[in-house]
Amino acid sequence: MKFGGTSLGDVTKIKAAAVRIKREVSKGNKVVSVVSAMAGSTNKLIKLVNEISQTHERSEYDVVISTGEQVSAGLLSIALKTIGVKSRSWTGWQLPITTDELHSKASINEIKTEKLKKSIENGEVAILTGFQGITKENKITTLGRGGSDTSAVAIAAALKADRCDIYTDVNGVYTSDPRIVKNSVKLNNITYEEMLELSSQGAKVLQTRSVVLAMNYNVKLQVLSSFDNLPGTMIIKEENDMEKTKISGIAYSSNEAKITIFNVPDNPGQAAKIFGALADEAINVDMIVQSSTLNGSATDITFTILESDIISAREVIENLKPDINFSSFSEDSKVTKVSVVGNGMRTKPGIAKMMFETLANNNINIQVISTSEIKISVLISSDYSELAVRTLHDVFGLDKV
Ligand code: ADP
Ligand code: ASP
Ligand code: MG
Repeated sequence: MKFGGTSLGDVTKIKAAAVRIKREVSKGNKVVSVVSAMAGSTNKLIKLVNEISQTHERSEYDVVISTGEQVSAGLLSIALKTIGVKSRSWTGWQLPITTDELHSKASINEIKTEKLKKSIENGEVAILTGFQGITKENKITTLGRGGSDTSAVAIAAALKADRCDIYTDVNGVYTSDPRIVKNSVKLNNITYEEMLELSSQGAKVLQTRSVVLAMNYNVKLQVLSSFDNLPGTMIIKEENDMEKTKISGIAYSSNEAKITIFNVPDNPGQAAKIFGALADEAINVDMIVQSSTLNGSATDITFTILESDIISAREVIENLKPDINFSSFSEDSKVTKVSVVGNGMRTKPGIAKMMFETLANNNINIQVISTSEIKISVLISSDYSELAVRTLHDVFGLDKV
């Protein structure tokens, strides 16, 4: 049972989460609970770090921002004990959960489950801090924003749990973000592939890596509300007879930044140099376009990265200038990526046309496009993000699924 920040936002909510756990224990289930930091607390910690230095050392950043989870774990354990449930809290290093050295976006390498299993055998509910791990050199790491989802799925996989329930502030996965699109509809089921696309295109209800893990380790994953008792959304495998004509959802992400490098000499190896240097700094590049040139001597290369990587990216690009000899570069953080996702795209032509026409009819300019087998994404100005998401939701009939 994983509880997100809003589900642990204050003492009353923490007590309610404890009652929910007690209910599962009373059914005879053995429970491990993974917790996030109390709502807003990770943001506050990040703010503190940035107030001291924008170019801080990533490992110390992790030391600071991993602490919110420890507070929740202790509080939830205390709440359980007060209602007569045996429990114990565990931090990432205590198990340990070992990760690579990529601070602030580390990946889990291994979870030692011995202590956890002993705790469960002793009849305790184990409460685990999500989002954090430790390197081989005993340095604390974090798994990227929203990383408690990944911790929960990883623990479920390591323990071969029957289920991994993600308790959050909405009662499942919707056709779009219910905060933006009021008439979005809860989906009873969604395939791992579709969920993966929705998450990676901005639906933060599940961290993308948690979906990848669940898919690879066959974890039975469910998203449900911690505030009511309605059924949630099951993430399921695609079956042969499944309806393949549908669009499942519209996702958006405002945490994007667009960079354009102008007048890159048009010869082999330049893109490899640019994207290689960004990869070396663990900067993930998402959409890419390279403009063709009239005279064939130089091109402009545009790509998107996470807004939080912009300071590091700027440094990487400046360092490349003497080698590549481009003329200049520009950055724009006022962009949003909007995506249409659905298995139906594999078989149903015309989805892209419908998407682009809808945006054109609303006078929304498309800056970059990228596609996969089951997704079309466009980059637009942030001024139009809500308009784009809402109208696309209507045009694809998602209020009626
Ligand atoms: P938690 O604190 O539980 O981890 P998050 O804020 O990380 O919660 O994720 C839940 C939020 O995800 C919801 O409040 C909702 O605004 C947002 N969200 C975005 N897209 C979707 C979607 N397609 N379905 C459900 N929720 C979505
Ligand atoms: N507390 C962390 C965050 O805000 C991890 C999580 O919520 O999953 O990103
Ligand atoms: Mg989350």
